[in-house]
Amino acid sequence: NDEEASAKAAAASADSGGPTIFDKIIAKEIPSSIVYEDEKVLAFRDINPQAPVHVLVIPKFRNGLTQLSKAEPKHTEILGHLLHAAKVVAEKEGIMDRFRVVINNGPGACQSVYHLHLHVLGGRQMKWPPG
Ligand code: 5GP
Repeated sequence: NDEEASAKAAAASADSGGPTIFDKIIAKEIPSSIVYEDEKVLAFRDINPQAPVHVLVIPKFRNGLTQLSKAEPKHTEILGHLLHAAKVVAEKEGIMDRFRVVINNGPGACQSVYHLHLHVLGGRQMKWPPG
């Protein structure tokens, strides 16, 4: 079932600090459906969407931010930039009044890619708690 699959996926991955699939997406070595891009961030559609709108917003330069728990004072500018980009994505996708931003941190939260990313979700009724 879904829960078992998530637990397995989480157990299989941890923060190695090595390159991730997102490096190839940033380099455009593997294709993605880009929703927004500027000099600092890239926003593209999740390959396994959990809602009609499911976009990932990532920094182009990871700079140690494999996960939010690695954030340091030097990261505050990019963290703010990412959150603002999430709003721009919601605006572009027409879900400004009904969207959710999620960051999964670590195996216990089912983080599977160790390059910080914000999930922007919407386009359906969102439930609470998220599970
Ligand atoms: P996490 O589980 O780490 O919070 O989120 C990682 C997300 O990246 C998942 O929702 C997964 O579907 C997405 N993802 C993994 N590989 C790819 C890929 O190659 N392309 C795209 N567009 N999304 C990916």
